[in-house]
Amino acid sequence: MPLFLPQFNLQKFNTLAVPALAQYFVSVKSDDELREALAFARTENLPLLLLGGGSNIVLRDDFPGLVVHIKSQGREVVAENDDYVWLKVAAGENWHQLVEYSLDNALYGLENLSLIPGSVGAAPIQNIGAYGVEIKELVAELSALNIRSGLSVTFTNESCRFAYRDSIFKQALKDQYVITSVTFRLHKQPNLNLTYPALGAAFADIVEAEITPQQVSAAVIRIRQSKLPDPAIIPNVGSFFKNPVIAHTQFNNLKARHPDIVAYPVSENQIKLAAGWLIDKAGWRGKEVGGAVVHAQQALVLTNPLKVSGAAVLELAELIKQSVLEQFSVILEMEPRTYP
Ligand SMILES: Cc1cc2nc3c(=O)[nH]c(=O)nc-3n(C[C@H](O)[C@H](O)[C@H](O)COP(=O)(O)OP(=O)(O)OC[C@H]3O[C@@H](n4cnc5c(N)ncnc54)[C@H](O)[C@@H]3O)c2cc1C
Repeated sequence: MPLFLPQFNLQKFNTLAVPALAQYFVSVKSDDELREALAFARTENLPLLLLGGGSNIVLRDDFPGLVVHIKSQGREVVAENDDYVWLKVAAGENWHQLVEYSLDNALYGLENLSLIPGSVGAAPIQNIGAYGVEIKELVAELSALNIRSGLSVTFTNESCRFAYRDSIFKQALKDQYVITSVTFRLHKQPNLNLTYPALGAAFADIVEAEITPQQVSAAVIRIRQSKLPDPAIIPNVGSFFKNPVIAHTQFNNLKARHPDIVAYPVSENQIKLAAGWLIDKAGWRGKEVGGAVVHAQQALVLTNPLKVSGAAVLELAELIKQSVLEQFSVILEMEPRTYP
């Protein structure tokens, strides 16, 4: 039976370092322990919060329910052919350690996703992405437990309905499944993606055939460390807002008023704006409100150096949203999820 800890301080379990209390907290290392935790929540009628590394949540207040910290470990090769290896990884494994493990074992594809904080089980929830790669390109399938029935279900890549920072687990099946393992299809031969401009620039003087995935990983780590604050030093949750996708007609109006606007084409009709640029242009870079701060090096990141409440951070986020809406008529959507 896993240990259920009452009135548990979550400050060290969320990278924003918000000092919120969980009514109950339990760490689970196996599917059996997970089932016991789910049964406890059902019997006691407690709301659930599934927790990995806590790097994509904002705790607005104390959580009146059971926080289940997923700590299952394990990696296993489940299939292989001439080109690919299928690697099944437990949800509680650390994401960056998986990237390192894959590179150490000559399995490729994850290198652009180096140094993203958090767990393997949370990665499909928002289809994590960075430097031109999203995990939807590498997930073969995943296993998940239905929270109500306790039954295990396999989701194919297609049935996860991955999209930009999105999946079925944030939409139609929100709060219905716990991801217990993810099976990745990794390349046996290097299959580099250097399309992201900052990454391409890092290798501008080298012939592609001579670049290794390990070097790509090192370059991604260098670029990330130069731009993003380390949550262990300055608490944050990475990008606080998604990059908004708007119609070309709206974009043309904005471009006429702001010729330097930063945007990337998504489809014939849609264009993705850099949320960081909008926030910066609206004058928020480096600003502090109630202890929460807009990061001076990257306006898309809100930081919590004084470890104030989640409510205070959300207040700053709301002011930013309003001001971007007023100045650009663009709605910003938060990337991390808010609890309770
Ligand atoms: C400095 C920094 C940089 C970042 N950079 C990036 C980036 O480049 N790209 C990117 O995409 N993200 C980035 N993020 C966001 C974050 O790292 C990812 O979203 C990550 O996948 C979150 O993992 P986690 O284990 O910390 O999730 P948590 O914060 O613990 O949980 C996030 C959500 O997933 C749910 N969840 C967690 N585990 C499970 C599970 N096993 N089953 C079902 N639901 C679950 C939670 O209930 C919650 O709703 C960054 C964050 C930080 C702090």
